[in-house]
Amino acid sequence: MASRYDLTRSDLSRLLSDEPEYRVGQVWDGLHVHGQAPEQLTVLPKRLRARLAAEPAMAPALSCTVESASDEGDTLKWLWALQDGRRIETVLMHYPGRSTVCISSQAGCAMGCGFCATGQAGFERHLSTGEMVEQVVRARAAAAASGRRLSNVVFMGMGEPLANYDAVWAAVVRLHDDLGLSARHLTISTVGIVPGIRRLGGEDLPVNLAVSLHAANDVLRDELVPINRRYPLGVLIEACEAYLAARSRRLSFEWALIAGVNDRASDAGELSRVARHLGAHVNLIPLNPTPGYAARGSSPERVRQFRDRLRDLGVNATVRRNRGTAIDAACGQLRAAAAETAVTMGRLPD
Ligand code: SAH
Ligand code: SF4
Repeated sequence: MASRYDLTRSDLSRLLSDEPEYRVGQVWDGLHVHGQAPEQLTVLPKRLRARLAAEPAMAPALSCTVESASDEGDTLKWLWALQDGRRIETVLMHYPGRSTVCISSQAGCAMGCGFCATGQAGFERHLSTGEMVEQVVRARAAAAASGRRLSNVVFMGMGEPLANYDAVWAAVVRLHDDLGLSARHLTISTVGIVPGIRRLGGEDLPVNLAVSLHAANDVLRDELVPINRRYPLGVLIEACEAYLAARSRRLSFEWALIAGVNDRASDAGELSRVARHLGAHVNLIPLNPTPGYAARGSSPERVRQFRDRLRDLGVNATVRRNRGTAIDAACGQLRAAAAETAVTMGRLPD
């Protein structure tokens, strides 16, 4: 797909080869530093603005299908249509001291985790670097419009980022170099793709790694997260050790609490051993219900108990608020809901 944030600087240079050299920098900064569309670049002569606005390679990657707000405006969610009609989601969350955007790295996902709406829908395609960068640019503009500064990006929306490594890493570099975001404020969340974790440890930028663990024994993890059969806990833990051996990296575990499945005292015990060994922080979140999965999230009481047990066992654990439940803000849920609505309205979901 050709889109404005898929162009590299040298692509842009080629596109503007008949213009004075300094125009390249003006357009590049306009897109990246100021997040402006070509037609808004008032530093350019009108003629050039019009030419760029009509240029297919400068088209936006995303058009907004649904925008919804919840948590009194502190959570904003977009369902975008890509140029080929595929749908992806982006969620912007405002917290007291920071604003974080959660972006998608693929349309769909091939990993097949049964509890996840994206996994239930299956894989469609990888996102391009430009499709990822543009999600951040759009969210940053929305944050700025409400007087906030976007500081953090998490690759925790639809898709498995380490299954789309090259495009994801190019997006990370662009966010760091051209949007000016600190590597410490970028987090890649993975289901546990071991070769990807190893590659990540060798990169120059020390981004944070979040591993979606959900179970700390192979029998249960095989069931919850099928890729565990390929990369079982032993090799996953080794890859995490290697990642941490690289200079100043931070590791956290995601644990979606499922009532009666992974919220027992024995689960906390198993998790605590792995988390202590790796010095990992644990983020707990009660499972969001999805149509394709019968089990329920743990009750608030049970979530607190689990957190306290982890703390007693010497693990740093935080309960993450379930942001945007009212607008289906969990991974893949807005898209699933939109497809259902389309069916109800007598149209075929695409
Ligand atoms: N594929 C990557 C990143 C996208 S999923 C990964 O799995 O880490 C982002 C996070 O949402 C993961 O931690 C995933 O386990 C979690 N998640 C998926 N479905 C969920 C649900 N129904 N309730 C709570 N968390 C969920
Ligand atoms: Fe894919 Fe992550 Fe969902 Fe698993 S939890 S299906 S890896 S998006």
